[in-house]
Formats: sequence, C-alpha cells, structure tokens
Amino acid sequence: MDAQSTFIACTLRVRGLVQGVGFRPHVWKLAKAAGLVGTVRNDAQGVLIELAGDAVALATFEQDLRQHAPALSRIDAIERQVWLPDRFPDAFSIVESKAGKAATGVVPDAATCPDCLADITEPTNRRYGYPFTNCTHCGPRLTIIRQVPYDRASTAMAPFTMCPACAADYEDPADRRFHAQPNACPDCGPQLWLEGPEGNVDADPLAAGADMLRAGRILAIKGLGGFHLACDATNEAAVQRLRTRKRRNAKPLAIMVRDLAQARQLCEVSEQDAEALSSPQAPIVLLTSKACTIAPSVALEQRHLGIMLPYTPLHHLLLRACDGPLVMTSGNKSDEPQAISNDDARAQLGGIADAFLMHDREIVNRVDDSVGRVEQGAFRLMRRARGFAPAPLAYPAGFATDKRVIAMGSALKNSFALTTPDGIVVGPHCGDLDNPQAARAYREGLALFQRLYDVTPEMVCVDSHPDYFPTTTGSNLARDADALLVRTNHHHAHIASVLGDAGYRLDGPPVIGVALDGLGLGPDGTLWGGEVLVADYRSAERVAGLPSVALPGGERASREPWRNLIAHLHAAGLDPLHAGCASGPTGLLVQMIERGLNAPGASSAGRLFDAFAALLGRHADRVGFEGQAAMALEALAGSGPAENGYPVALVDHACADTAPPCLAPFWRAALHDKAAGAAPSRMAMRFHRGLASAFADEAVAQAKRIGASTVALSGGVFQNMLLKRLMVEALRAQGLQVLCHRQVPANDGGLAFGQLLIGLAVSQ
Ligand code: ZN
Ligand code: ZN
Ligand code: FE
Repeated sequence: MDAQSTFIACTLRVRGLVQGVGFRPHVWKLAKAAGLVGTVRNDAQGVLIELAGDAVALATFEQDLRQHAPALSRIDAIERQVWLPDRFPDAFSIVESKAGKAATGVVPDAATCPDCLADITEPTNRRYGYPFTNCTHCGPRLTIIRQVPYDRASTAMAPFTMCPACAADYEDPADRRFHAQPNACPDCGPQLWLEGPEGNVDADPLAAGADMLRAGRILAIKGLGGFHLACDATNEAAVQRLRTRKRRNAKPLAIMVRDLAQARQLCEVSEQDAEALSSPQAPIVLLTSKACTIAPSVALEQRHLGIMLPYTPLHHLLLRACDGPLVMTSGNKSDEPQAISNDDARAQLGGIADAFLMHDREIVNRVDDSVGRVEQGAFRLMRRARGFAPAPLAYPAGFATDKRVIAMGSALKNSFALTTPDGIVVGPHCGDLDNPQAARAYREGLALFQRLYDVTPEMVCVDSHPDYFPTTTGSNLARDADALLVRTNHHHAHIASVLGDAGYRLDGPPVIGVALDGLGLGPDGTLWGGEVLVADYRSAERVAGLPSVALPGGERASREPWRNLIAHLHAAGLDPLHAGCASGPTGLLVQMIERGLNAPGASSAGRLFDAFAALLGRHADRVGFEGQAAMALEALAGSGPAENGYPVALVDHACADTAPPCLAPFWRAALHDKAAGAAPSRMAMRFHRGLASAFADEAVAQAKRIGASTVALSGGVFQNMLLKRLMVEALRAQGLQVLCHRQVPANDGGLAFGQLLIGLAVSQ
C-alpha cells in the first residue's frame, strides 16, 4: 500500500434486494479494481462488506456501488461503521454465508439478459441455441425455489449436476455466472423435446415446433412459471380453434412478439411502454393496437392488445424460428389453474394442444404472467405475478415492521400478502378460487410463502364476507396458529390498498376514498360497490354512493347484464316493459324484485355498467367474464364525442331515509337518447362522463366538508382508463391530490395488501 495515502478500514452494511442477484461478485470486482482488501458475505440482514485501503479509492468504491448496482438488485440503504480486525487480509475475497436463516434471498424471476441473449445467438458460444441459459442477472428464481437459503440443492435444478465448464463459471467470481444457482449448458442442464400424440417427435424441437405453429397448429409450451397455449396470432382459424378448444370465448388473449420492432408494427409503443416491455420483469403491456395483421379473435371489441416480449431463451429461440407474433395464453382449461407439471399438462391440455414443447426442469411454483399498462405517466400493474412477486413493497411510514401478519385476500382475482422484515410481500396472482384445483393451488402457494419467509402469523386478516374461501381458510389458520383474526371491510381494504400503494403515512389525515367495484360485503350486511368513504388506515365511514338496487337471481345477475337493466329501470320507477330493451322474462324478474325473492340489494358500480351495456345491446344476455360488458362500454366510448354526461345523482347516506330514486333522471335521459336513435358510442361516452362527474363532485364536496386534500381511487372499476382519467382530471382541477394504484392492482388482486395494512394499523 502507498505510504502517502490515508489508510481507512470500515464495514458497509448493504440492505435491500441484494442476495441471489450477483451482488457479491459485483462487490468483489469493484474492490479489486479499486485495490482494496477485505471480504464480502451474505447474512440475514443482506450483504456485509469489510473493506480496507486508500481513502480516495474507498470513496470511489462506495460511489460505484451505489451508482452501478447489478440489474436485479435494489439497494435500500448502505450503513458504514469502523472495522477493527485483529489482522487485515492481503486480498479481497468472497466469504461463504454463515449458517443460519437468511431473511432475504427470494427474488422474482427475470427475463433473459442481453448478455445471455448474445450467448444463445452466437454460433461459436457453447450455449448457442440452448433454451435454458441464464446467469446471475437473469433466469428463474421464484419459480424454481423450494426452500431457503437459495442454493442449487433447494431448487428444481438439484437433479442437474454441473459439467466441469459450468462448474468453472460458477466458481469464478469474475464470471457472470458466479454462484448462478440455475447455471446450465447443453451438456449438463435441462433438455427440451417436442411431444405429439404418438410420442416424442424425433427432430429439432424448436424448428419442428415453429413449423407446427406456422401451419396453424396449437402448441402447449412449458415456460417459466407455467404452461402456455400458443398459436399463430395472425391466423384467425387457429385462434378460433384455440378459443373453442380452451372454452375461452371472450377474454382477450396475450401476444408474444419477436422483439420491440415487431411490437411497433402491431401497436403504438411509447418510450415508457418500450421500457416496461423490455424490463427484467417483462410483463404483458396493454398497448393501443394499430390496423395490423393480428387475427380479430385475439381481442374482440378491444382497442388494446396485450403484448409481451420473449422472456426466456426458449421463447427467444422459438419466436426467432417462427418469426411471428404468437398468441400465448395460460395453459389451463377454462377456470382451472395453469398447468405446471408435465403430467398435469398432458392431462389438462391434451384435448387442446396438438403437441407439447416440454422440458425436464420442474416448475416448483406457479407464477402467471404479469399484466399492466402505462397510464397517467407511470406503469401500473393490473395483475401482479411473474417478475414482480415476491419483491417486497415498502411499509408506508409509521407502520410497525416487526409483526408477523398474513392477509388472505378476496375470492376473485385472489392474491395473499404477508409481512417480512424487508417489506410486505404480495404473493403472485392466484385468480378466482371458485373451483377445487384453484383453491388447492392457493393453499399450497400460501404454505410455500409461509415456509420461505418463516411466517407463523400472530395476526390473520380476512374479508368480512363469511363465505369467501380465503375467509374460512384464514379463520382456520388463525385458530391453528392461535393468532388474532381481523375481519376487514371489503371497500375499506380497497382504499387502504391504494393508500399503501402510494406510501401514504399511517398517521396521515383522513382521505376521501372512492371505491368502485363489482361486489363486496358492507358493514351493514348489504352488498356494496359504488361508495364514497371518509377513510384512513384504521377506519372507513360511508358518506355517499350509488343507490342499492336489486340483483334479481343473486349471482346470476353478475353473469346476465339484462337482469341489472330490469332492476335499475324498476328502481328508477320506469317500466322495464316499455323500455323495449329487455330480452328475458321481464315480468317474472319484476315479481322477484317486488317480493324480494333472491334479489339482494347492491350499490354496485360494476352492475350499473352491466345494466347500461345491456341497454346498448352489449352482452345483454350473458358475459363471458366479469367486467366484459364494462370493457365493451369503455371501448365504445373511446370513439364517442366529448359530450355532457348523463345526470347521475348519488345517495347521501347522512339522510338516506328520504332519498328519492336518485338514478331516475339518469335513466330517463338515457332512454330518451336511445329512443331518439343516438349513436351507442355517444351514449357510452355520456354514461362515463355522468358517472365520473357525479363521483368527482361528491368527492370534492366531502373533501371540503372535512378539510381533506387527498382523494384515493380503488376497486376493479378503476381498471377503466376513461373513467379514471375523467375523475383524476376533475379532481386535480379542484386542487386535490389523487392517489391511484401502481404496484398492486386496483381490483381484488390488491385487496390482501390493504387488508394487511388495516390489520397492522388497528393493532398499533
Ligand atoms: Zn443472463
Ligand atoms: Zn454445463
Ligand atoms: Fe372488490
């Protein structure tokens, strides 16, 4: 060491997502380059660096560390202390983790990095064309882990012994694959094959698979977190065949494109869109479609396409071989969870796929593709799964971080949430739990996360609806663990979720919460879904909202929009028979409503959307999935002129007893338009504007009343971009701060996060 320089010795404690992401070799390289001596190791709190050397070199090192962290890492804090060892080492080395439980270490799966893509496309590279190439900057993580600590033996890579060349990469701190647990090559790693009804096809599986796709066949492809069903997205007959066989008649299908350039041929791609598409999370991004070659059946009635880029080497190689955009939809039969094992896929998808692109790396955890879109200047998730789960979300300021809490989520679009010292982990989207396989997958997923994060709960948060599967499961869990059971109100949880998503502090003043969704149980025992609340994390009070209107037929009303139209017209004092827009047995339905037979009331915004869509003849008889009618209305309004809204009046819950049928003027105006032959697009636009200004005006009035400056928007209806934009604009114009979802979905996928925050808040 230079005698002139100032010698410094210190330890740096690095917190954040710093394990399993190539952090130690990165530190090693920086330390070597700076001529420093010392050690780096993983421990329960993150990464610990011991450093000694020249003061200037050390400062440079620290700056580089902050500015050039590895792609998948996230530094939350670096704390510096003095280092006083017995003896200074004469070099810098990576030290093995001390035994003991690591508190961190499970990171999300990451899309193939540019270096690995270069490896598989360079003919002289030994990983040329190898579909399971990865490194510390990319590859499978959550989808292959069985237990912590994260090392190869704890993953689906355990059966594959590294060849000498791979072992050398793995041992070399200067190599990108240093300690890359899923490291593999064609000689030692997982293998790919193509399997037809008559057994394995004896050909290059990628080339043969690509040929089949080009010929209009359907392929089941084993991916990262589950099987996909794929076909040529430009072949209408193939897409229709896929829909028929899968019995998925309505929902839009996602598309995987070859690269960004191909995405630009199909859709408008902004800079922010491109950034989201090519991020390590590689989500499905909703983009405005151009006039293009995509088969119409891919996304009916939609102005958007769900596009993603290849995110595994297998995808890259396949998309290059067939060159085309592919439909890539989750490999399941209608409502069952996505298949993850080869046997499961054969059984579940055998009647759908013409062949299987299989491999022998097991998928341990089912992780669906994430979905989001760029809106209001930010990328916002609509389904949080691959690439995002299980990255922890920060505790908002003021929350205790040492409580062990599990939140169970909702019955539909479920995800669960749990606390960790690093933040709140929201499990990957589990979907609708209304069939036994989905319910089992939910329980298994939760059990795995409890194991990975070592959470025995002291508190379990559930929805107050007693019949939801997660509610009963959560009650049992609380009983078995002798934990406190906290029942949270559905719409309060929605608002708490968006508050937490925006980092709103625990002791922040109450906000005006607008919660618009399908259905949720209110504290008065009736169904809610179109509410204005005064809320903070601890409590919520309903102050205004949509009137309660019958759901004739109960659950059937959620599937058959015409029932809601009849009920709404009846509630507004209008004669549904004279409206000339009902397709079913109107008289019978009116009797059910008047006698209160299987016709519970609900103040649901979702059902109001359904009723209005039925008036316009959109999916009046039946919807294929919740929200289909609303999506059709939004798409329709997109081409309508900027009209005045219909007059929507809300119920004032402070004097609800004397409220007149407040939607009567609204329905009269709509019926008048319809009778006058107004264009459906114009009517759809007037509907959106009317609803948006009613809720915005109410929120403004309530904010004035209590002196609030913030309005929080949540609930599945806020997946509607038009309604959200209109409301955000109106509220901002009044000088109010508006909180919207970004990291967790506005729909019930974000509910567990809100439930958990309520649980923490009320116990503090
Ligand atoms: Zn890589
Ligand atoms: Zn190898
Ligand atoms: Fe909801």
